[in-house]
Amino acid sequence: MAQVKAKGSILLEILIVVLTVVLVYTIYDPAMKIRAEEELKKICRFRMKNIRQAELKYFDEYGKYTGNIDSLIAFIKAKNLPDSLFFSTVSEKFNPDSLRRCPKAQTFYIFGADSAGKYYWLECPVGHGFIGSKDKPEDVNKVSWE
Ligand SMILES: [Zn+2]
Repeated sequence: MAQVKAKGSILLEILIVVLTVVLVYTIYDPAMKIRAEEELKKICRFRMKNIRQAELKYFDEYGKYTGNIDSLIAFIKAKNLPDSLFFSTVSEKFNPDSLRRCPKAQTFYIFGADSAGKYYWLECPVGHGFIGSKDKPEDVNKVSWE
């Protein structure tokens, strides 16, 4: 025997389902955004550390730092530096061409060196950290987040 529901009962069930969806969304969406932001920061910092790795090799080769991303990427490719020298994440394997930009908003790193190549500075434009400092030559290769 079929049961006949009152109109108000059906509306109430629909309301409960809608509110449940809204509740689940408000709980999980911020958590997912935070996780995604953490992952982007992690990738960004790996990229900056990879730039440092390449700068150290560049220094070994030429006795100075370059502070120029095009020169550095060309150097990595020309010298065929092994992937084992560089950091990778689960979501991003090392790729020299990725070193130009922070993965968040794809903005270019602030990167340079003094004219003698004695030190370089590298900074994420969205605040994920920096390596070295334009104002503190003694901080060459020093990572801000470790
Ligand atoms: Zn960044």
